[in-house]
Amino acid sequence: MLREALDALAAPVDVFFRDDDAGWEDARLFELLARFAEHGLPVDLAVIPADLHDALAARLIDSHAGLHQHGYAHTNHEVEGRKCEFGPARDKAAQNDDIARGRTQLRERLGDRLDPFFTPPWNRCTRDTAEVLVELGFSLLSREHKAEPFGLLPELPVHLDVARLSPQALDERFAAQLRTGGPVGVMFHHGVMEAEDMARASELLQLLANHEQVRPCRMAELCH
Ligand SMILES: [Zn+2]
Repeated sequence: MLREALDALAAPVDVFFRDDDAGWEDARLFELLARFAEHGLPVDLAVIPADLHDALAARLIDSHAGLHQHGYAHTNHEVEGRKCEFGPARDKAAQNDDIARGRTQLRERLGDRLDPFFTPPWNRCTRDTAEVLVELGFSLLSREHKAEPFGLLPELPVHLDVARLSPQALDERFAAQLRTGGPVGVMFHHGVMEAEDMARASELLQLLANHEQVRPCRMAELCH
């Protein structure tokens, strides 16, 4: 079905790939990165500052992945309701402290490989977060597509959660999203991907890598 949807497109569509939670489950992270590399596809990693150690940083710098900030410690601060690290329970000053500290830590380890982009854990944050990002000079916020844009800085949402959707639902939603003209953001969570999920992801990547109506992009190419 996805292949048919791609065949039916009148013009190529930009597609980008965001894998979250670098800092957790390193073996699975590098397995997923190897699959992207095998298919010659770009990928952007959302890296958790508090969980980035030196050895991992060295490997990430040598990888082909784009690297950007994923919150600070991936901690839930909400007492009730949906999980958030940068939710209504944190005032702007507290959010500023976390984001600035996280960026400093990432810069120390990743240097100029770090893109000035921010993905909040659980894809959720408040307007205060966006204001902090603007003040700190970030150039891009990435959440999920149902979130209303703040209108404060460029946003590049993800549309599809490869780990959560059944193969059929993924195909259907992907096809529907392609018809909007893109860009289409495909989100991965390597940490929860079992062997069969990796195999499925590889099939998806192979299809996308070899279809002329797919224009695979780094987030940095879509940052405007
Ligand atoms: Zn995450």
